[in-house]
Amino acid sequence: MILVLVGPPGAGKGTQAKLLCARFNIPQISTGDMLREAKRAGTLEKRYLDIMDSGGLLPDEAVISLIDRRTAEPDCASGFLLDGFPRTVPQAEALDQLLARGGKRIDAVLQLDVPRPLLEERLIHRRTDKRSGQIYHLVYNPPPPGAELEHRADDRPEAVARRLDAYEAMTAALLPFYEEKKLLHRVDGVGKPEEVTQRVLSVVSRPGSGGE
Ligand code: ADP
Ligand code: ADP
Repeated sequence: MILVLVGPPGAGKGTQAKLLCARFNIPQISTGDMLREAKRAGTLEKRYLDIMDSGGLLPDEAVISLIDRRTAEPDCASGFLLDGFPRTVPQAEALDQLLARGGKRIDAVLQLDVPRPLLEERLIHRRTDKRSGQIYHLVYNPPPPGAELEHRADDRPEAVARRLDAYEAMTAALLPFYEEKKLLHRVDGVGKPEEVTQRVLSVVSRPGSGGE
């Protein structure tokens, strides 16, 4: 099963990815997480670090090569879930080519829909536990005492606005790309995380949508 989650920053891709990957027993591949790991390890080029922190998108080649290497690993043999990739049409085209080389294709692309004011609220109050990678929200899903919290540099209000604009300018073009291929499924991302997961499951378990 190869699933792709798309949606603006804050739509709940990371949250849903964790729930869906546990359910289907497939790895989650998040370019954002991979890049933040490289940042922590000190292996991310300075120019990329600056782009990330200010809320811009990295060049396509940089993220495509990450995905190329990661999807070739043995744990991806029976499927995976992509979260945060592709974000541009050239990335989507590169993904198709890379999958075609292995005789694979995407089963479903799930677009999480959330109105912009709610996205801003979700992002500004997002915190993640550095050790476990668990995603929290100061109001909707407060972290437990003792969590080692990280407040992402790009979750500060100025960067949030830039990222939402970048999504509208770049990533929104992906939607017609996948719509034409009849892979796109829109899912209402407002509601409790478990309710959103149920909506996603009802799409992927429908015949012809990848879950059969
Ligand atoms: P969010 O979960 O808020 O949507 P991510 O964690 O996926 O954001 O990504 C964080 C940052 O990493 C992005 O703002 C961008 O700078 C960079 N990044 C992640 N994935 C990509 C991608 N596919 N293309 C370009 N840049 C990316
Ligand atoms: P993305 O990966 O799309 O940027 P996240 O999964 O990191 O989104 O979620 C962004 C923020 O919104 C986090 O603080 C998360 O706890 C919160 N969140 C995610 N899903 C929901 C939901 N269904 N209801 C309320 N808050 C949510």
